[in-house]
Amino acid sequence: MSTLRTLRHVIPSIATADGAGVKLRRSIGSQRGLYLDPFLMLDEFYSDNPDDYIAGFPPHPHRGFETVTYMLDGHMQHQDHLGNVGDLGPGSVQWMTAARGIIHSEMPKQSEGRMRGFQLWLNLPAAEKMKPAGYRDIPASEVPTVPLADGIEVRVIAGTLLDGARRIDGPVNPAGARLSTDPLYWDVRIPAGSRFTHALPQGHTAFVYVYEGDAAIAGKTLPNRAAGVLDAGDTVTIDAGAGGARVLLLAARPIGEPIVQYGPFVVNTREEIEQAIQDYQSGVFGKAA
Ligand code: FE
Repeated sequence: MSTLRTLRHVIPSIATADGAGVKLRRSIGSQRGLYLDPFLMLDEFYSDNPDDYIAGFPPHPHRGFETVTYMLDGHMQHQDHLGNVGDLGPGSVQWMTAARGIIHSEMPKQSEGRMRGFQLWLNLPAAEKMKPAGYRDIPASEVPTVPLADGIEVRVIAGTLLDGARRIDGPVNPAGARLSTDPLYWDVRIPAGSRFTHALPQGHTAFVYVYEGDAAIAGKTLPNRAAGVLDAGDTVTIDAGAGGARVLLLAARPIGEPIVQYGPFVVNTREEIEQAIQDYQSGVFGKAA
């Protein structure tokens, strides 16, 4: 007997700006101190107007968590102090484990046209906050696009999709054990009148973000451009509204540790924030210990 995950509450996205003035909509993380352990933030950027994105995200540091960028349209370039260069194109994913520190920039590689995608911040447990930084540039061709019954299509970024006897692993954590938060990150396209159903690990934090159309979770409506936090249970159902829906489905194991954030530093104590600032100012940030 399965237990349906119902909609516990809705976090609307609010218009804001970050980087050097990139306009975006923030749902998770839009209110100071309100996290969805282990998720810290979800931003959606979507504009056809270059003024909204051209300033990009010039060099800035991160410590203590992971940033995940998923592009739908447009091109950005990632560069970091470790020498990584990444091309963020449509359908690609950049999975950056900032851990003890990375300094990077994300700048548009276009001066016109549409820029559309998401950035997620995923926390790391204390034991992993000071491990060496890692960076993965995952091209669109490595993200499985899986057609299911009723016209539903899922892009599997992280986690394992089960379809009958088929098992489709995302490129990020194919063994399910590479990341301690065991994240699931799917982009689900549901035609009008169709219902997507899948098991989700009991006890994992889960939410759905609707970025096109609208949807209903276990019968309760989730509006467009809002994150719907799911209650406990082991199965999720998502019904598309009259115009169909495109949603992100995310789930991960909560960490359950204190969170102290100062901008792009997310650690466990005030002292660790002071250490991060000092490391950044003294130039040892992200260098080998
Ligand atoms: Fe960044």
